[in-house]
Amino acid sequence: MEKSLVNIMWFRRDLRLEDNAALYHALSSGLPVIPLFIFDENILQYLEDKEDARVEFIRDTLLTMQTVLEKQGSSLLVKHGKPEMIFAELLATYAIQTVFTNEDYESYATQRDDAIIKLLSSKNAALSLHKDTVIFAKSDVVKDDGKPYTVFTPYKNKWLAALKPEHLQGYNTKVHFSNFLKMAPIPIPSLSSIGFTEKAQAIPSAKIDLQLIKDYGKLRDFPAAENTSRIGIHLRFGTKSIRALARETKDESAVFLSELIWRDFYHMILWHFPHVGKGKAFKPVYDTIEWEKDNGNFEIWCNGKTGYPIVDAGMRQLNAIGFMHNRVRMITASFLCKHLLLDWRLGEAYFAKKLLDFDLAANNGGWQWASSSGCDAAPYFRIFNPTLQMNKFDADFKYVKTWVKEYGTTSYPSPIVEHTFARERCLKRYAAALK
Ligand code: FAD
Repeated sequence: MEKSLVNIMWFRRDLRLEDNAALYHALSSGLPVIPLFIFDENILQYLEDKEDARVEFIRDTLLTMQTVLEKQGSSLLVKHGKPEMIFAELLATYAIQTVFTNEDYESYATQRDDAIIKLLSSKNAALSLHKDTVIFAKSDVVKDDGKPYTVFTPYKNKWLAALKPEHLQGYNTKVHFSNFLKMAPIPIPSLSSIGFTEKAQAIPSAKIDLQLIKDYGKLRDFPAAENTSRIGIHLRFGTKSIRALARETKDESAVFLSELIWRDFYHMILWHFPHVGKGKAFKPVYDTIEWEKDNGNFEIWCNGKTGYPIVDAGMRQLNAIGFMHNRVRMITASFLCKHLLLDWRLGEAYFAKKLLDFDLAANNGGWQWASSSGCDAAPYFRIFNPTLQMNKFDADFKYVKTWVKEYGTTSYPSPIVEHTFARERCLKRYAAALK
């Protein structure tokens, strides 16, 4: 039988049918389009906890997409395995002209895409990559000499100057929905068939509260109330378009827009300086710091039992709901690498495991900021005092009491380390490495 000539739309971190750059190009290509998602074994194998709300969220999102596709007489094709093997199978079944997909700037993703490009081209097919996850990528915003920025503020100024309405314009995919390949619905693999179990964790809504955005600059630093958007997971998996988000919010809050620019900044850094995503400090000299050997303090930090209430509240919030407020991320991260003098990579990996909004670029950026090893990081001698931070941002202990029920009772542990001692030890150890 002759193979059908098709194009493929390969969804990855862009799980939506509307306003999706690669999907728009696929559906305008003139060939019927198979919408594909791969549960990538190369990624899933590193998720130690098989009760992972993010995998469940992906699957739930695919089910939602499936209902829309079924109405078009089409279906998502959901596979589980290694992408190269899946594409080899698809090439044996279909005459594929082009695989459309959106760019992903992580090293694993770029290597995977290079391998797929090779495989496809051996069969006269192509991979067509599009920018979708960020507003400006790679070298879209660079210094006048063409080099990448490594300091945020000048990057942000150039980013703002470069922004034109077309950068935020949505892609009208809907008008082309009839171009999906007509297929009977194909079942989506169950969680258990891909090795996971249900967690049933609450996922924040993707809806934006414009009043919250208006007040964001004033209120965002106070962790007790829900004063931030909680949109992170939706940006991570593409269930919210970054263009739509920026369009809806940019005139309401310059501070909020600035946070979205931080996101672009860290993706740009990861692209130009891939060593940061491979366990290396942005500034190599910071890899000579002599970290303490872990004598059980790491587990105490993970479990929120350090005796520093704001640190413990943050870690317990993370463990309970897969979210931690940004200021508290900064405090807990700084505490791990400066007060406990434990390697920041331990904390980075723990956040990666627990955060619903985990994103390699932003998480690595945040950790390298806190440990001072990053591109535009806190200077190493700036060491947060967790008690002063609590007094400033949680003065009535509302956040602390929400997450640390035994706070103020005799069951609450005493501090794991004394602040002045820890501060001086850290300054000495960093200075020794950086001299
Ligand atoms: P809001 O404050 O409402 O901001 C809106 C969006 O802007 C966020 O969802 C995020 O996409 C982006 N954003 C905000 N702040 C930053 C920032 N500093 N850097 C990059 N993007 C930002 N953010 C992640 O998305 N994933 C991570 O894995 C992550 N790990 C972090 C680890 C550390 C140690 C630190 C200090 C920060 C980390 N951040 C991370 C950045 C920030 O803490 C979160 O984006 C934010 O707390 C998410 O909550 P929200 O969605 O309510 O954000």
